[in-house]
Amino acid sequence: MATQSLTLNNGYKMPLVGLGSWQVTSPEECKDTIRAALDAGYRHIDTAYAYQNEAFIGEVLQEYFKAGKLRREDIFVTTKLWVTYHEKDRVPLCIVESLQKLQLDYVDMYLIHLPVGLRETGKGKPFPLDENNTPAFQDVLLTDTWKGMEQVARCGQAKSIGVSNFNMEQIERICKIAEIIPATNQVECHLYLQQEKLFQFLKEKGITVTAYSPLGSPTRPAHILKEGAPRVLDDPVAKDLATKYKRSVGQILLRYLVQRGMIVIPKSSNPSRILENVKVFDFELSGEDMSKLSAQDKKLRFFTILEFKGHSEYPFDEPL
Ligand code: NAP
Repeated sequence: MATQSLTLNNGYKMPLVGLGSWQVTSPEECKDTIRAALDAGYRHIDTAYAYQNEAFIGEVLQEYFKAGKLRREDIFVTTKLWVTYHEKDRVPLCIVESLQKLQLDYVDMYLIHLPVGLRETGKGKPFPLDENNTPAFQDVLLTDTWKGMEQVARCGQAKSIGVSNFNMEQIERICKIAEIIPATNQVECHLYLQQEKLFQFLKEKGITVTAYSPLGSPTRPAHILKEGAPRVLDDPVAKDLATKYKRSVGQILLRYLVQRGMIVIPKSSNPSRILENVKVFDFELSGEDMSKLSAQDKKLRFFTILEFKGHSEYPFDEPL
């Protein structure tokens, strides 16, 4: 099963469907999940320093390389710079650690995970706390962090670099000083948070959108799971279209984003759903059905990360 790719602003190709791996932290579950995804035809894995599973992913990749089932150039791996490494001189420390764990010489995509920086205090991981038990905010110029990212790209540790959870104003600031324009902005995006304004803004700059939580993250942790929030997977229009196209609701939700031109990174640890989620290239939603789905937007952000609200780079106050 071949997944389709899009071409980034630097000429590299990025598979449109990748496997999300947040909250897949137990070693055996993680390794089984990665094996199931590779066997199902996934050629793109999304991880992060903060997910604490890079070492397990690296183990499975080595297993597949050694068995001749996969070559390094066949697989697209994304990982992310954690918030405690925003200072320009600390950026290389974080990527080196990720590469060691992944047992790779380079990643295909390296992202600044969040625009908000925190100071390493030794207390409260992965979100360090200060002496008052509040997040240890650190103000590092994002443009400096970006210079560190460019250095990572220049020395070949990442083929492409980008950002995550950045708003338009932050992207604009980066683009003003960038020698390398970000290749993607990975943001929350699903039927109830369609991000059309940000998507069009980025498109004009040649920056792709990678949609995280494309199924609405139904098993996100309790502090993010707002009480009474609607479940994207229960959307009535998506359900009707699933019946019409003889597909699962998940496939309709993912196809909708892919057909708009976005990259999607659904997470599943269930082999049949892993397979289902990558099978979105053998059907097309009609223009009328695309419009029905776009009318379902609620501009509803689940990941508001309110703990960071007081930080000067808190990204989510910009109108949607
Ligand atoms: P998601 O992919 O929207 O949803 C994952 C959940 O949906 C899992 O509980 C999964 O359960 C279930 N599921 C998967 N396929 C399904 C299907 N076809 N039908 C019904 N249920 C299905 O949520 P997410 O994990 O929040 O987001 C995806 C990835 O985006 C993450 O894993 C991570 O890599 C990335 N992410 C990035 C950021 C960031 O700040 N950059 C933030 C959040 C997420 P089973 O495992 O049981 O199938």
